[in-house]
Amino acid sequence: MRIGVLGLQGDVAEHAAMLRGLADVVIVKKASELETLDGLIMPGGESTTIGKLIQKYEIDRAIKAKRLPVFGTCAGAILLAKKILATEQFSLRLMDIAVERNAYGRQKESFEADLEIPALGKPPFRGIFIRAPVIRKCGKDVEVLAEHEGSIILARQGKILVATFHPELTRDARVHEYFIKLITGA
Ligand code: GLN
Repeated sequence: MRIGVLGLQGDVAEHAAMLRGLADVVIVKKASELETLDGLIMPGGESTTIGKLIQKYEIDRAIKAKRLPVFGTCAGAILLAKKILATEQFSLRLMDIAVERNAYGRQKESFEADLEIPALGKPPFRGIFIRAPVIRKCGKDVEVLAEHEGSIILARQGKILVATFHPELTRDARVHEYFIKLITGA
């Protein structure tokens, strides 16, 4: 199993560290590096910046052509959404969700919370939210995996997975393991 971490901007090293022991890790900076991968993680960071860079390096086209399973966290989730509310910016549009950026407002811009995620088992998952988006709407092919205070925070459509929080900043590998299981169909 080879998983790429999109390495253009954002918390790349943290995702790579989390994957160690679960898969071979490739830091992806060029479209050609997607060729041998089984899946790709798009990290958090700044979605406008990452969006510009993946177009510049034609990584957007390669992801689509290869129909690669993708896990997007925070900014990565924004970049997978079919619709980004209120701002005009690039997205891969691979998942039928509508997201609102920076949706928690100033006071709660960044916060932590214990999340109930049935697909990961009983122990709560520590959710770290950093200027996180909110998933406002989902299409019928989207499976909602978890909500927090009425907002969808983890969801999947086929082999595309999105989290509005940052599992790579914890020591809990369950979301990354879940993505690997999605890829293998286990
Ligand atoms: N606020 C960022 C954006 O809109 C996302 C923040 C993050 O990835 N932690 O792109």
